[in-house]
Amino acid sequence: MQGLSHQISLELLSDYAGTFGFLLMTGIAVVSIMIKNKRSKKAVLTLETNQSNNLHEPVSLHPEINAALCVGCGSCVKACPEGKILQLVNNKSSLVYPTKCVGHGACEQTCPLGAIDLVFGTKTRGMEIPRISPDFETNIAGLYIAGELGGMGLIRNAVKQGRLASYHAISKLKNVKHATDVDIFIVGAGSAGFSAALAAKENNCRYKIIDQNTFGGTIYNFPRQKIVTSHPLEFPIAGQVKFKSNIVQKEKLLDVFTQIKDENNLIINEKENFLSLKKLNNQIFSVETSKGTYTAKKVILCMGVRGTPRRLGLANEDLPKVAYNLIDPSEYQNSSVAIVGGGNAGLEAAQYLSKSDLKNKVHLIVRGGPENAFIKANERNQKLVFELEKKKQITIHYNSCVKVIEKDFILIDKAGGDLKLANHALFIFAGAEVPFKFLMSLGVTIDKAHGEKRKLSIA
Ligand SMILES: Cc1cc2nc3c(=O)[nH]c(=O)nc-3n(C[C@H](O)[C@H](O)[C@H](O)COP(=O)(O)OP(=O)(O)OC[C@H]3O[C@@H](n4cnc5c(N)ncnc54)[C@H](O)[C@@H]3O)c2cc1C
Repeated sequence: MQGLSHQISLELLSDYAGTFGFLLMTGIAVVSIMIKNKRSKKAVLTLETNQSNNLHEPVSLHPEINAALCVGCGSCVKACPEGKILQLVNNKSSLVYPTKCVGHGACEQTCPLGAIDLVFGTKTRGMEIPRISPDFETNIAGLYIAGELGGMGLIRNAVKQGRLASYHAISKLKNVKHATDVDIFIVGAGSAGFSAALAAKENNCRYKIIDQNTFGGTIYNFPRQKIVTSHPLEFPIAGQVKFKSNIVQKEKLLDVFTQIKDENNLIINEKENFLSLKKLNNQIFSVETSKGTYTAKKVILCMGVRGTPRRLGLANEDLPKVAYNLIDPSEYQNSSVAIVGGGNAGLEAAQYLSKSDLKNKVHLIVRGGPENAFIKANERNQKLVFELEKKKQITIHYNSCVKVIEKDFILIDKAGGDLKLANHALFIFAGAEVPFKFLMSLGVTIDKAHGEKRKLSIA
């Protein structure tokens, strides 16, 4: 009798446990559906707001999501290093902040179902882009384009593309029978060019690499101590270079580059400007620079997109106080400084120059209002700048542009009226003239991409 009641109570207990387990699982499922729905509604709202503010067109390489294949697993959402640019809407991945996408490509890499393609431009907004094959060869056989000039930003991509373009060029060298000064001629000694030159060195090729400015390219021009986000870089010879938490200071990154360069006796010809090239005998190139003319079997252009900063087109823009990059903020102290531009470069300059020990008066001049002036900047920079504005460490002049530049002051057009600001230094971050006209003069085809799929070699 006692055994029977013990057995019944065990059965009851197991029934209770089963029911409890079932209820718990159902509860968890219901809560998770509720959370998902709430997030989805928020994402729809963000998407609608961005659309009504005309912020629905991506400005560079971006993901195109195939809704028929997407199962809403969210791996792409988690993988994006830029934050909540992708979000789930009705259980499908959606690009809710299109203008903030910089084309990392992590989403495409992570998607387990191949539901994401990386594309340039959209049906309504075309984007100019040099025509390059998956091996980075242009329409001119033997002429390659690698790095940001090809349309993809980021150091990691530039290093990878320089390496792959060079390997491909090297693999075709044997087909060129003519004697030349060098096998491979590389223009630009930024991340892409450096990596391309290392690949040439690794394969015992005769190479020449030139830069109109300095080794390091865009990185060299970053402000002092700028924090750079960088996923592992895969260099020829040196192998993988990793940084803690994928974050590194500019100086450390340049030290790593320099160490690899020196260890491999890589010769970089600085202050040498690439002027033109032509094909000889339909086989080899004649490359003209500011210092001479060279023949080469293959040419890799790694010129980036920042060679010529975009100017405001105003009188006195050549005054020494006007600059297009900020390398050492500590040079500016107790000064009234103005920064033009609401992109990352402008916002980062505002942060560096407003550091309290410098005692500067910082003015940030932007064309749009608070809701759209910073659409090209990342969330972190936007947040930091709004905080500085709140603490009155910087003054943001919305709906404004510089009208007059004089030695000690500038005049800005602020929502219709003029405002005079004392000024000792003026930084202009209005982007750069992308050298596509120059490329076209060399015979390179520039396409207008409207979101067509193309095969890309991206990490
Ligand atoms: C403010 C800012 C912040 C950024 N932050 C990050 C970040 O945190 N993480 C990240 O991964 N990326 C970041 N980027 C992007 C990254 O810096 C670039 O995508 C990358 O450096 C591009 O490398 P590249 O080799 O293609 O071109 P570049 O580094 O621009 O090198 C091109 C080189 O070509 C040379 N050149 C151009 N024309 C000629 C010519 N006619 N003759 C000879 N030489 C020529 C130039 O002088 C330059 O040295 C940032 C960019 C900016 C502007």
